[in-house]
Amino acid sequence: MTTADALPIVVAGAGPTGLMCALALGKQGIPVVVCEAEPGLTRDLRAGTFHPPTQEMMAPYGITARMQETGIQVREWQIRERRGDLVAQFNLSLLADLTPYPYRLHLEQHRLTPIQLDILRSETEVQVRFGHEVTGFEQRGDHVLVKLQSDTGSSELEAAWLIGADGGRSVVRKSLSVEFEGFTWPEQFLIVSTPYDFGKHGFTMNAYVADPTEWAAVFKMPDTGPPGLWRIAFPCDPALPDDALLDARNVERRMQAFLPRSEAYEIRYRSIFRVHQRVASDWRLGRVILAGDAAHLNNPLGGFGLNSGIHDAVNLAEKLARVWRGEADESALDLYVRQRRAATIEQVQSMSIRNKRLLEERDPEVSRKHMLEFVAIASDPERARRHLLDTSMISGLRRSYEVG
Ligand SMILES: Cc1cc2nc3c(=O)[nH]c(=O)nc-3n(C[C@H](O)[C@H](O)[C@H](O)COP(=O)(O)OP(=O)(O)OC[C@H]3O[C@@H](n4cnc5c(N)ncnc54)[C@H](O)[C@@H]3O)c2cc1C
Repeated sequence: MTTADALPIVVAGAGPTGLMCALALGKQGIPVVVCEAEPGLTRDLRAGTFHPPTQEMMAPYGITARMQETGIQVREWQIRERRGDLVAQFNLSLLADLTPYPYRLHLEQHRLTPIQLDILRSETEVQVRFGHEVTGFEQRGDHVLVKLQSDTGSSELEAAWLIGADGGRSVVRKSLSVEFEGFTWPEQFLIVSTPYDFGKHGFTMNAYVADPTEWAAVFKMPDTGPPGLWRIAFPCDPALPDDALLDARNVERRMQAFLPRSEAYEIRYRSIFRVHQRVASDWRLGRVILAGDAAHLNNPLGGFGLNSGIHDAVNLAEKLARVWRGEADESALDLYVRQRRAATIEQVQSMSIRNKRLLEERDPEVSRKHMLEFVAIASDPERARRHLLDTSMISGLRRSYEVG
């Protein structure tokens, strides 16, 4: 037995990816320490769509059943035109023979992480240290020395492996000095939530609305329970400062332009965020491995970011557990990198970029062609099924597991 065999696996970050890694490892009896910089779980308005394979992956841990208690099952979603109407509608029931979850489950990300943490605490020996920021590490051959900072000062922790699941600004990734290749979109996204019911205007609980400047993505979210909230994402003018974008009058103007009504909209939440398409040039150096947003970022059109973080975690934990127990050599971890990088680049990056370009197409002729293509796909059950397999991440995941 080497030193590393007795040491824990340290996970930087208690976001959905880090907690999933910890749970999947901890359930196998492997010692894990999660170090989270914040004093508690973060609550910002972020992901909220869970595709069928993600629900399947989380089900054996009891997470999916807990999510179903408040989550909304969304079987149908639409492509719409801003100045027209419905273009095409897709129904995930077409995949009912392939998955026990033939729907997107809508649940706020900040309602998922408490479920993960609760199961982690009640069913594993995993330690979670809030208020412990990972500030760096040293690779020491058969282990890694993780450097931490907390209110009580700096400390070090010896780890068999370090998983960097510390989000888009990952200190772990930066310390590895790998490139974060890709680009940042010029415009920020504005996210607005309102109790106003868009369903009575024919919107399904998930809809993508095409327009050259005012495109939008619509999601019905459970919030604290029925009737829930409608969340809309819009692109912002890159020339305007953040406070002007978030100004209540600007938000009201955007909502009225989206769907005019005589009364003002009641706005519950609003936020803006910058959007990137980036993938780390390498996801593993020695005993340090990246997962989730630390390894890749994409725009939220299609709802792939958090889902792929969970897919990373499940894939990595399965291989890392075998390596930790001495049942597999380190090449298993390179396979994790090849499989997940393939899914990220070939599926998540390409589809999220294409989704944005389809919605914002400026040439009316080209846009018309795209919309007619959606009509053709939706009206042919075989093509619609293939489209749903792609957009639900099922075909990309299957292909990634074929990567050797
Ligand atoms: C507005 C918005 C909408 C989105 N919509 C969707 C969607 O519908 N579907 C989807 O799949 N994805 C969506 N995403 C993406 C999704 O939110 C992210 O992909 C997801 O949060 C990634 O999880 P993560 O655990 O990898 O990273 P994070 O959620 O960023 O978690 C990282 C954690 O690490 C902690 N941390 C950071 N630095 C350190 C450090 N040095 N030491 C210790 N801890 C540290 C952070 O505090 C945080 O808790 C959306 C994102 C945004 C912004």
